Amino acid sequence: MKKTNLCGLTRDEFERLMEDVGEKPFRARQLYKWIYKNRVFAFRGMSDLRRDLRLRLQEKYYIGLPQIAARQKSSDGTEKFLLELEDKNVIESVLIEDESSGRTTLCISSQSGCPLGCTFCATGALGFNRNLTVGEIIGQPLVIRDLYGEGAFDNIVFMGMGEPLLNYAAVMTAIDIMTDSLGLMVGARKITISTAGVTSGIRKLTASGSKVNLALSLNAPDDARRRRIMPVTKKYPLAGVLEAVGRWTEVHKRRVTFEYILFAGFNDGEQDALALAALVRGIPCKINLLAYNPIEGGDGQRPGDVVVDRFAQTLYPRAPAVTIRKSRGRDIDAACGQLAGRKGYL
Ligand code: SF4
Repeated sequence: MKKTNLCGLTRDEFERLMEDVGEKPFRARQLYKWIYKNRVFAFRGMSDLRRDLRLRLQEKYYIGLPQIAARQKSSDGTEKFLLELEDKNVIESVLIEDESSGRTTLCISSQSGCPLGCTFCATGALGFNRNLTVGEIIGQPLVIRDLYGEGAFDNIVFMGMGEPLLNYAAVMTAIDIMTDSLGLMVGARKITISTAGVTSGIRKLTASGSKVNLALSLNAPDDARRRRIMPVTKKYPLAGVLEAVGRWTEVHKRRVTFEYILFAGFNDGEQDALALAALVRGIPCKINLLAYNPIEGGDGQRPGDVVVDRFAQTLYPRAPAVTIRKSRGRDIDAACGQLAGRKGYL
């Protein structure tokens, strides 16, 4: 008989499972805590479960995590993990240390490949394989904590492979487990969903009441140029996306983060900075600027530091908060837009 993987099950699902085997609900909480909080992935190590129960569980179930197929460390400390899933699809997670703040961020994937095809993104160039399951999403922080312990990261961002709002249900269920006091116990405000602009998903997120942060990958000050690099704009033009984002800021009384990748000669001029400031006027926000990281086969160019600084200076007095994000892990293709799930990079 094929065993069922328990990684990714919610508290309610564990309760139903325990009910099915004639056990009380508190056993479900014990099992849940062993897996997500204590990171014990073998039933024999779950010392407060009776031996006969452990043996019965072992007959039907197992706890399976993504497997580290390769890992690579950048000279700046950024570490990239290639994780293999049970069906041999691969995804990437990246651990990014920020020396100035002393915080570490874990960037995780929500899909294997991505259907949105942003032209600057190595994941987009791969095409789309499939959505990740809850277990494959939650399995990423579990694998990293298993390796480096409880303090392995401070923040989690959905900025790896895939568009999280196109795998909405699984992402939100994984977030419930991440934030649960018997789960990974990561504060919702330390988790960020970064979207390419799926308006319907942003609206759902607003209505859900979830306290996670929202980031929008903006990258152009108008629909015409954005369509060229982010085809999702055809389905979800900027006006609707920004209206949905504005509503999110109102409901949650929080700032949204706009990510803006600068491409030389495409969106990095003074007029572009003015247009961007006008576009986001009235929306409580922070704008993160990032110089493009060239990818294999991509046709964009990286602007020089002077251009990036000038853009930021034009933008700053007109937009509430502007930061220039230092690209991390460029030498190992772990920087924003460079994740391509290449095997064998060890
Ligand atoms: S940037 Fe994000 S949304 Fe766009 S193709 Fe890459 S992974 Fe998908």
